[in-house]
Amino acid sequence: MVASLINDATTRITTALGLEKRDARLDARVLATHVWGVDAAWLIAHDTDPVSDAHIAGFETLLARRLQGVPIAYLVGTREFYGRPFRVSANVLIPRPDTELLVELALARIPPDMPMDVLDLGTGSGCLAITLALERPLAHVTAVDRSTAALAIAQRNADILNARVEFLASDWFAALAGRRFNLIVSNPPYVAAADPHLTRGDLRFEPRTALAAGLDGLDDLRRLAAAARIHLKPGGALLMEHGYDQTDAVQALLRENGFPSPQSWADLAGIPRVSGGVLSE
Ligand code: GLN
Repeated sequence: MVASLINDATTRITTALGLEKRDARLDARVLATHVWGVDAAWLIAHDTDPVSDAHIAGFETLLARRLQGVPIAYLVGTREFYGRPFRVSANVLIPRPDTELLVELALARIPPDMPMDVLDLGTGSGCLAITLALERPLAHVTAVDRSTAALAIAQRNADILNARVEFLASDWFAALAGRRFNLIVSNPPYVAAADPHLTRGDLRFEPRTALAAGLDGLDDLRRLAAAARIHLKPGGALLMEHGYDQTDAVQALLRENGFPSPQSWADLAGIPRVSGGVLSE
């Protein structure tokens, strides 16, 4: 029956991945609702129902991949970000709640009644660019990624969510010569190459190029900070996500590159997560 299948899967996920039982149960439920095309309420209401062999087989197929560590978002193909569902594949980073801080900070700098030019560097699934475009319909949002596979997903998300975003294949600013923006945002790779987190949990299955950035994790933040100035309009702003221990380094990079009064903001967990500044006049 449904309940024992979920219980059994919960135990197997807990053992295989060392997750908290509560998280493992959530995983099992999400997989079941996904393969069976039902919702969470159905699972509860049908607790004691028998499960057909076909439904068991479908569930087991997905569960086997979860037991190998494949992230839930890749198995079900979607992850919610800022209240909207985004398609994801193993070619893009899974959107994280931490990054909603970057959305809030960006929205605070894009007046709803002004046609501003906004750039998202390394857009991945497109979650940042698409959210900004939907929340600020007058803004012209450009989003770049070096990965054409990522751009295909981002474009598909924009189509599904009805967002108007200009997508370009570009290694950071490479394809943007001569273009200037009012606001540049980025969630670049910022994990140090030897960080053990890269070899654990969901991160093992995410594109390494979207996560790791050199010995100290600052390689891309350095490049972005150095080049942002020539792509900002007067009074333009730069906002970049970074690691919990990179605030001082990123503030220094901003100061060195034309942003005299950098600021940093903490995410919901209280961890400094975004730094940015306004270009000196
Ligand atoms: N915050 C992510 C993590 O540590 C890293 C995301 C990134 O490198 N942009 O899981």
